[in-house]
Amino acid sequence: MKKIFIYFFAFIFICFILPALLTKTDIPTSSGDNTTEEIVDNNQENNVQNSKEQQESQYNYQKYGTIKLLHSKTGEVEEVALDEYLCNVVSGEMPADYELEALKSQAVVARTYTIYKCQNPKHDNANICDDSTCCQAWVSKEDRLARWEESKRESNWQKIEQCVKETQGKIITYNNQPINAFFHANSGGTTELPVNVWGGSGYPYLQVVETAGEEGYTQYSSEVSLSQQELTDKLKEKYSDIQIDFNNDEQIKILEYTDSNRVKTIRFGNHELSGVETRSLLGLKSTNFEIKKENDKIIFYVKGYGHGVGMSQTGADAMAKQGNNYEEIIKHFYIGVEIKEINSL
Ligand SMILES: [Zn+2]
Repeated sequence: MKKIFIYFFAFIFICFILPALLTKTDIPTSSGDNTTEEIVDNNQENNVQNSKEQQESQYNYQKYGTIKLLHSKTGEVEEVALDEYLCNVVSGEMPADYELEALKSQAVVARTYTIYKCQNPKHDNANICDDSTCCQAWVSKEDRLARWEESKRESNWQKIEQCVKETQGKIITYNNQPINAFFHANSGGTTELPVNVWGGSGYPYLQVVETAGEEGYTQYSSEVSLSQQELTDKLKEKYSDIQIDFNNDEQIKILEYTDSNRVKTIRFGNHELSGVETRSLLGLKSTNFEIKKENDKIIFYVKGYGHGVGMSQTGADAMAKQGNNYEEIIKHFYIGVEIKEINSL
């Protein structure tokens, strides 16, 4: 009898209850799928959100998570996390009291420059060195903090970390390649073409651009005053046979300017020098200068600070003060570029 009951219930179950259950499941599947999908989607969104937040707090640099930094004084090579390294660079390259958006543009420029150096190595056993005249300035956190007023140490460092963190993974590209992100202190109002500084070609994103507001910074103007003897002595370091007749105005004369109104060629007595050479021999802050003679003195009135190519740091700060964000600043100084995620290249 028991068996009959079991068979009977099994029959009832298979014929009536099971189809009813399946139908019941079917109904919410068709109308409720959206709900289910919505929940799944929301979950996925939450997951994406979570991983985005995680990414934002700890960007996963697939290829360039760490770099090999050469300490030029000791010769020691240190492997450091990229963004940690960038805090040391940004704090060494730009005053911490500059606007946040200017510091962010410096962080992206420094990251781009670093990746460019990784791809175009200059040193045998390291990606980049800590010498600003060779690669890029780097200051240890300890040294950096010591140079700030005690009351500003914590807030300054936090600001530097913030600008690196808020631009995590971002680099400047042209034709999908990291650019050679040159920068300098003050353009004197107009940037320079690289060909006029180093010769060569191949940097279409480095053009002559004008920036308002740079005149408000101390780096904008400077002067070097030399006696006739001092000037002759300095030029003799390279041109031992130099002879200048200081009574003849034609003997010290700017002959040619670049497109950005910097000195291209200048005559000193029996020699013609480039503006770049003159800057280096006389210790001028840029090649954007005028000359005046006053009694025995020859005075060089100089505009701007640095080679003048790429982003001007004071220009970036001036633009930030005018309400531009870091992307706008970067796209002003580097023509036709894009700002991309490093992992998308
Ligand atoms: Zn180097």
